[in-house]
Parts: sequence; structure tokens; C-alpha cells
Amino acid sequence: MLLRHTTDKVKERKALTVNPAKTCQPVGAMYAALGIHGCLPHSHGSQGCCSYHRSALTRHYKEPVMAATSSFTEGSSVFGGQSNLLQAIGNIFQIYEPDIIAVHSTCLSETIGDDLGQIVTKAKTDGKIPEGKHVIQAPTPSYVGSHVTGYANMLEGIVKYFPTKTDKLINQINLLSGWVEPSDMKELKRIMGLMKINNVLLPDTSDVLDTPMTGKYAMYPKGGTTIPEMVSMGDSLHTLALGEWATNKAAIALDNSCKVAFTQEDLPIGIKATDRFIQALSKVAGVSVPESISDERGKLMDLITDMHQYLYGKRVALYGDPDQLIPLTEFLLDMDMKPVYIVSGTPGKKFEKRMSELLSERCPEAKFKNGPQADMFLMHQWIKEEGVDLLMGNTYGKYIARDENIPFVRMGFPILDRVGHSYFPTLGYMGGIRILEKMLNEIMNYQDATCPDEKVELTM
Ligand code: SF4
Repeated sequence: MLLRHTTDKVKERKALTVNPAKTCQPVGAMYAALGIHGCLPHSHGSQGCCSYHRSALTRHYKEPVMAATSSFTEGSSVFGGQSNLLQAIGNIFQIYEPDIIAVHSTCLSETIGDDLGQIVTKAKTDGKIPEGKHVIQAPTPSYVGSHVTGYANMLEGIVKYFPTKTDKLINQINLLSGWVEPSDMKELKRIMGLMKINNVLLPDTSDVLDTPMTGKYAMYPKGGTTIPEMVSMGDSLHTLALGEWATNKAAIALDNSCKVAFTQEDLPIGIKATDRFIQALSKVAGVSVPESISDERGKLMDLITDMHQYLYGKRVALYGDPDQLIPLTEFLLDMDMKPVYIVSGTPGKKFEKRMSELLSERCPEAKFKNGPQADMFLMHQWIKEEGVDLLMGNTYGKYIARDENIPFVRMGFPILDRVGHSYFPTLGYMGGIRILEKMLNEIMNYQDATCPDEKVELTM
């Protein structure tokens, strides 16, 4: 019993978080920056912060994640980190030769009041940024928000810097992606390819954090959104922003600066959210939906129909990021499952509203909460009050799954103890099939392992 101290008596907590359902802001900023081609993320803080951010990403993606640090000492903590960052910018361009440095702050540099914008401007006037090179920045104080906030802040920083409005409209769509896997980014591009839509996907971590073994080390892999692509976003026809928490700020910034109108949609997880995504794509790009995509939808519908008996009425507990939890909850409801417990460490008032809309009629017994006290401890307490048939979320749920003997599907960030997420998408109709396969595998494995001998079934 790894979590034997968890009690089933839920008490109101105001300041204490136990096993948070989130991680720190700069991890998200770093992940977003890695989705730009030729970009080196830079952590403005202590070496320890940078090591943690890098290792969190490396352990999930099983790829080396490069990033630089301002390497704060006691002196910088007292007198400010400006001189460290100025020196770092000069050194990085000279030694590592990136096209872009993406600087994010940390708890420490935010607390002492370092102004990243002012320091980057000084780096420019001091001649530390070579011609044709760029430094972008985003504030990521980790004592508020979560990794999703950091992702959103860096995406906003990118969009405020590169897209440029000219008088020439380009026949292309901007797709701002929320925090999803490289495999999902590839899937978004595949879908837009099937629909023959010219597009710029930002960020794009495919071919950055899922690179093939070639025998040669590439500090800047071939993937990532390029500078010309990002500049051209200011002249696009429309922006489609996927996942409100991660992309809304960037979509608004792009609309404000370049007057590119945007449509906000959920991440396309499950049937209905993917339907809305495909319809939105079709509308903003003025194209019809090809038969190949309708066929994929039909395959997912067929599988749901065939397997409904194993899913009906199953009680599910899930945790993670709001952008994923909202469409996933909708997907579970559409399969007549019961998402009874939902927590997210990422704050945001809309979470409660969206969850209420989804759950109040179709699963009125559901409990859901987000913000700092919506942690794994609370979820475990709810599970102890009344059990569930399935647990879905990142690797940290394995302790609850083990103690309570619950089938467990790994989804979200981070997944530290399994592979597959970098290669097999969970977005779109085909991604829906993957989610369904993962759920069914766990449910059927549990049934096979626990049912009496005379009930063992050879065939589904
Ligand atoms: S100190 Fe703040 S920025 Fe650094 S690792 Fe901890 S939470 Fe993240």
C-alpha cells in the first residue's frame, strides 16, 4: 500500500496541495519552444530548475532535450539576473548557433523582479543578437498556473514576435495546437493534408521529439515550425485554435496584431470534438470533407457500437489538463460511460462551467474540481469513498491504480513508464480508436485476471 495514509474523509483545504495534478510553468514553455525549428529554449533561473524542466520532458519523450540556463548563483538572486542573461545570449549564439533563443522565466527570476522584455531589448542594443537571429521571451512564474499556462504564455510570446501583416493575403489556415504529443501534431497535419488545406501548424514538435536514429546527433532536428512559416501567419485567412487553455491567448494576440480572425475549438478527442474540428476546418478553409475522413469516422462508430457492452455504465476517474479532460469527458459520456471523478491542477473558471454543461444531466453524480487543491490526493479520497472501474491520466496515477486495484489507462503528460504516446495519436477519429483500444485492453485484462474460471471468455 504505497498510499496507505490517504483517508476517505474529505476535508476542506485552502493552502495545502498533496500530489498535484499538474507540473511547473517552464516545462510547458520549453515544450512549446521546442516546436519551433532551430530554437534553443533558455531557462532564466537556477541550474536546478532547468535540469528539472529538461528531465521532465526527456523522461516523457525518451529524447534528449537541449536547453540553456542563466545559471543563477546567490549573487544573481540578490542583485538580479540581467548580466547572466546578457552573457548567456552572447555565448549561446556564438557556441550553439540557434536561429532563435526562447527565454522563459522561473519562480526565482520572477520573484526578484527581472524584466525579461527589458533585458532582451538591452541585449539587442548591446549588439548581442546577431543579424537574422531572434530572442523571444515569456513570463512563466510557476507559483501560479501550471505547465499548460507556461505553454500558453510561450505560444503567445511566439505569436507576438513573428507573424507580420502585409497587404498580401495568403491562402492558408493557421492551426494553433494545444499541448498534444508529436504523434498528434503529425495526425493534425495528416488530416489537413486529406482535406487539401494549406496550413501553418504552431507549434509543431513532430520530427523534433520523435526523431529517428540516424547515427548522427542533430542539435536542431528537422521538425518544427520555421521562421518564414511563422512570419506568414500574419497574412493567413483564419486561425483555428485547439484547446482554450493552451491557445486562446495566442489566438487573441494574433487577431489583435494582424487582424487574423480566429475560431476556438476543443482538442479533437473523441467523436463530437473531432466532428466540430472537421466542420470548423471545412468552413474556414472553404473545402468539403473527403470520403476518407468520413470512413475513419465510420470505423470509430463501428468499434464503439461493437464494444458498447463492455463500456456501458463503467465508472471512470480521470485527471490531467482541462484541454484534454473536457473532450475526453464528452467522449466517455457518448459511449455511455460514467466519468464520475475529474480533477485538474490547472486553474481556470471555465472548467467548472464546461464540466457542468457536460455532466449535470448525463452523469449528475459526477464530482469535478480544478485548481491547486484539485490534486491526486483528493481524487484518491473520492475513489476510496466509492470505487471506479477505470482510471485515466498520467503516470502518477499508478500508485492509486495499484493500491485500489483499478485498471489504468495512461494518457496526458507525463507518461514516464510506458512508450507509444510519441508514435500513436489520440486525436481525430483514428486517435479515438486508439483511446478505445487502450481502455478496452485494460478493462478486458482486468476481467480475464479476476473473473472465476468458469467465466473466462476466449472471444470478446
Ligand atoms: S522553482 Fe519554480 S520554476 Fe523552478 S522547478 Fe520549481 S516550480 Fe519550476
